[in-house]
Amino acid sequence: MSAYIEPREALRSLDGYHSPQLNVSVRLNTNESPYAPPEDFVEAWLAAVRGAALHRYPDRAAKALRGALGEHLNQPPERLFCANGSNEVLQTILLTYGGPSRRCLIFEPTYALHAHVSRITGTEIIARGRLDDFTVDPHDAIKTVVEQRPAVTFLCSPNNPTGTLEARETVEAILDAVARVGGLLVVDEAYGEFASYNAAAFVSDETPLVIVRTASKVWSLAAIRLGYAIGPTWLIDNLYKVVLPYHLSTPTQLAGVAALQFGDQMDDRVRRLEAERDRMSAVMRMIGALTVFPSQANFILFRVAGDAHALWTRMVERGVLVRDFSSWPGVEQCLRVTVGTPEENDAFLGALHEAVREDM
Ligand SMILES: *Cc1c(COP(=O)(O)O)cnc(C)c1O
Repeated sequence: MSAYIEPREALRSLDGYHSPQLNVSVRLNTNESPYAPPEDFVEAWLAAVRGAALHRYPDRAAKALRGALGEHLNQPPERLFCANGSNEVLQTILLTYGGPSRRCLIFEPTYALHAHVSRITGTEIIARGRLDDFTVDPHDAIKTVVEQRPAVTFLCSPNNPTGTLEARETVEAILDAVARVGGLLVVDEAYGEFASYNAAAFVSDETPLVIVRTASKVWSLAAIRLGYAIGPTWLIDNLYKVVLPYHLSTPTQLAGVAALQFGDQMDDRVRRLEAERDRMSAVMRMIGALTVFPSQANFILFRVAGDAHALWTRMVERGVLVRDFSSWPGVEQCLRVTVGTPEENDAFLGALHEAVREDM
């Protein structure tokens, strides 16, 4: 028997975040951008870092970054909170509005960090499922919100790992119910720029809605760790009270400011990935023996007629790594592929075709 101290009771059965990495040539498993950021961005960022006062603490209010981001989003900086990836944004939201004696509502299957951060912050989870097409059932959602009165309700749109966009009417109806019970609606839009609409337009100082975004996927900056929230001024003020002082380093803040000067090139990457996503979906549907779910993100979820884990293994043998969701509740026998470069996508499609045929 170990005599060492254990984590607190609620954390003992906690499973850490798992996203297995393998050293293969084509890695399409973590939804990163396949394109490095523009070289001019790297130069501009490094020049800014060289000019920075590294012996001083960073600007706690991240004024320059929030100002530039506000211009980009057409929002006042007072409605923006920036942090180390959207994961830190989610954690700060739950540290502020979740916690012991509070509940959150999550529609599974969805991004694992929503439940993970809820557990870490001691927030009780109410888990509901989704319809067969992976959208949230608005009637069930509203009924649950009204009956259970969760402090925090999570939506993820487009949803990871399914790629599903929630209908505008669903978001509005759930927001209305959340407002009536005095709760908060969090819409995780990590893939919002790939979708045909986003919920940022609903944000106002009179609405209990916060949108969470990231530079990891769309801006090709996963290594930087930069995410942000768009929310009412009162909510943003509270997040800044809770987050650790000086949490966002000067190089990170400067990276965000520099990236915003390359908006056109970032947009161009998004359009290219969307075109590739649609091309891949079409080819995958022709391969047969797969159910390819519609996606409004930079990844595609597909269900395998046979043994998905075995298919995943055969893909790895061919040097292609995708994400294995075969034993995840709600997405059983599913795999998820991230949209890569056209060459990577061709390698994926070739390996998939062979691996499916081998099973027949
Ligand atoms: C990748 C992802 C994030 C995490 O983003 P970071 O900014 O890298 O922390 C958040 N939400 C969803 C739905 C994601 O898929």
